[in-house]
Amino acid sequence: MTESDSKPKAIREIRINPVVPAESVLVATARSLRPKKEEPPAPHDARPHVETCPFCRGNESKTPPPIAEVPGPGDWSIRIVENLYPVLDDDQRNPNLAIGLQQTIDGYGRHEVVIDHSFHGIRIHEMSEEHLSLLFSTYRSRVRELFKTNPSVRSVLVFKNFGPAAGASIAHSHSQIVAMPVVPANIDAEVQQSAAYHQKTGSCIFCGLINEALTFEAAIYDRESGIVRRKFDVGQYVIERGKKFIAIKPFASRFEWEVQVLPLCHEADFANLADEDLADLARVFQRAMARLNSVLGGVQYNFFIHSLPRGPVYDGNRESYHWHIEICPRTSVPTGFELGSGLFVNTISPEDAAARLRAVEL
Ligand SMILES: [Zn+2]
Ligand SMILES: [Zn+2]
Ligand SMILES: [Zn+2]
Repeated sequence: MTESDSKPKAIREIRINPVVPAESVLVATARSLRPKKEEPPAPHDARPHVETCPFCRGNESKTPPPIAEVPGPGDWSIRIVENLYPVLDDDQRNPNLAIGLQQTIDGYGRHEVVIDHSFHGIRIHEMSEEHLSLLFSTYRSRVRELFKTNPSVRSVLVFKNFGPAAGASIAHSHSQIVAMPVVPANIDAEVQQSAAYHQKTGSCIFCGLINEALTFEAAIYDRESGIVRRKFDVGQYVIERGKKFIAIKPFASRFEWEVQVLPLCHEADFANLADEDLADLARVFQRAMARLNSVLGGVQYNFFIHSLPRGPVYDGNRESYHWHIEICPRTSVPTGFELGSGLFVNTISPEDAAARLRAVEL
């Protein structure tokens, strides 16, 4: 069977997010529902160095003093500085601004900027696997350090905004780390729901989802010859598989092209990522990003690392929670219906999206 003779038929169904049922999605692929307003690709400035950019090498004096430089000062390839965005500066002077997230950052929160690479215009999928290993190990050491230095920190969120619609204000590739004395509601919901599942079944729901995805993948190997025989009309969710990590397309994702990267072996805490697993994570992540870039062409995106929060409420969930990276490409502007109802409409079936991502030749 080929892709062309298995034309996907229109789907219209509400899919329940298996981890957080309240975050369900309407998958509606009928042509009449397209197009949503498309988000344009991120503007791309491929220059390696920009004289006026505070994040470029040689302009170090334009940022606050570094918290860390990797591999070392001077010839750095990753640099971490305090975030000095005015909105945080203003917190104490303007109490009216001290609501929600800003209030939590004020006081004992920390907000750091990670300059991902010394090259100005380089994008994640263009970085080498060695560099991405270093980037993940840098995230890990900052997360460890932020928890260690302040026992009131409950959650450390590592994330990246790429493109103006995704919230990036500086073009030079960078990511951010926010240490908070509270736990974001979406992570809390994942922890609570997966704990309830664990209590019922004795197993981790994320491990269950990985096994399910791998079972679908196994269906496309020829048992006799061991040759891969692809089918395009069965539920396939695996985008990329490494020895230690896997990238999957969630069955019910809010963002049409959302991809998640998870460790194959159960682990709740990103800070426990082992040195020997860094290279495999870098490889799976880099290849997943390259597939997304190839299908979506310079798309704007966010990614987040979701890891088990700390503190008495959370410490008991090591068996039930499973850390992961959510990569959320911003291909369309959310509609009023989506924002008002919280029910996101996905006009490309996740199976179809997964098949297209898998088909990319790297
Ligand atoms: Zn720059
Ligand atoms: Zn697990
Ligand atoms: Zn998550």
